Amino acid sequence: MSVNAKKETEKEEIICINCPKGCRVEVEAENGEIIDMTGYECPLGKDYAAEEYKNPTRVLPTTVRVRGGEHPLVPVKSEKPISKGRLGQAMNELAEVEVKAPICVGDVVKEDIAGTGVDMVATRSVKKKANNRKTGKAV
Ligand code: SF4
Repeated sequence: MSVNAKKETEKEEIICINCPKGCRVEVEAENGEIIDMTGYECPLGKDYAAEEYKNPTRVLPTTVRVRGGEHPLVPVKSEKPISKGRLGQAMNELAEVEVKAPICVGDVVKEDIAGTGVDMVATRSVKKKANNRKTGKAV
């Protein structure tokens, strides 16, 4: 880097979610590299903020369609946090998913969502729709 090259510096505040204290960690970075962090009260917060700055992740909660169930949708979530950059692709993939009732809590509704290696699981059970005794058709 030349002596006159401008350094890109930024500050970002990240709230640690590892305990109810919710420390506000200020991350200072130069050209994308962390050069200082303040505001954390234990090593967990430092590690969390560093990871969140470099690769922010989120647990994805949403719903998918159900065929033959007593509800038309089932709530689902990613088993682990996935990269924020993959959330859009994950939602597109889930829009194509339709699962067949019955569904139990914890059932995998989609493996390896958006190539992350993380599975989407049901967070609620959905029973099969009851049949009409006379016609045998779902009611
Ligand atoms: S930095 Fe430590 S004390 Fe602060 S919120 Fe995170 S885990 Fe809790």
